[in-house]
Amino acid sequence: MTYPPQPGNPSGPPVGPSAGNFGYHPVRAVQVCSWHPDRVTALSCTRCGRPSCPECLQPASVGFHCRACQAESKQNQVVPKTVAGSILGQQPLITYVLIAVNVLVFVITMIQAGGESRLPTSEWLSGGWLVPGLAANGDYWQYITSGFLHLSLIHVALNMLSLYFLGIALERMVGRGRFLAIYVLALLGGSVAVMYLSAEYSATAGASGAIFGLMGALVVTFRRLKFNLRPLAGILVLNIGITVFNNTTISWQGHLGGLLVGAAVGAVMVYLPAKDRTRNQVLACAGIFAVIVLLILIRAAQLS
Ligand SMILES: [Zn+2]
Ligand SMILES: [Zn+2]
Repeated sequence: MTYPPQPGNPSGPPVGPSAGNFGYHPVRAVQVCSWHPDRVTALSCTRCGRPSCPECLQPASVGFHCRACQAESKQNQVVPKTVAGSILGQQPLITYVLIAVNVLVFVITMIQAGGESRLPTSEWLSGGWLVPGLAANGDYWQYITSGFLHLSLIHVALNMLSLYFLGIALERMVGRGRFLAIYVLALLGGSVAVMYLSAEYSATAGASGAIFGLMGALVVTFRRLKFNLRPLAGILVLNIGITVFNNTTISWQGHLGGLLVGAAVGAVMVYLPAKDRTRNQVLACAGIFAVIVLLILIRAAQLS
């Protein structure tokens, strides 16, 4: 603890009847607050010694700090970050938004079709699912829309269940923006794989390409953090179960493409060094997006 110089006792602690009575020394009562010249104060900052009135002092880990010292420590405060560089403790949001969009789209297609058994007659579903031969010839929206359309109630329900569990876990670890980047790029990765590996006039729909991407990114993130991979095995089994269960309507091709792209983008998020991380992550994602677009253009030229 430091004390401002006092008349008759230039450097030492206060002496006399008031010694030990912290904060009250009649001889120091002439000093005024550094921020309020009209306020006489006997108190001062524990850190820098500036005279301060009670209003300008805040309890610190040691003693009381003045306004200047509070501002300085706030500036130097390090915000805790996740392994991907996002702010630690951010609550998931994108996962819920994606689930809401998928459910809403499914409800609309059900209304359009007038029942689950007639779903393929829905305008949105039959125009939005991915048919490589059509997407290559001008129905380019299908690369994206197919990832938000589902072919049955069980299809959307199981996908949303997976999206909920995988999404919450991953979004907490990488943050909202990075999570959205993984999801969208994996969705497109699934579409690329369908373009190359599925029959030219087969129809593919579902969020599972993107969801397998989340799984790929989670495996990479778990490895980076040296977490036990076993809990993910259960989710993997669930998703393979979904693939088998829906083997007539959703494609292993889309799952494979989503998984690979998700793992690649996940690696970008958690393995890049902290220096200039956000900028490098944006550049790497832009690069992956460019490769996806190039692959789509090449395949579209082949099919058209
Ligand atoms: Zn201070
Ligand atoms: Zn003051």
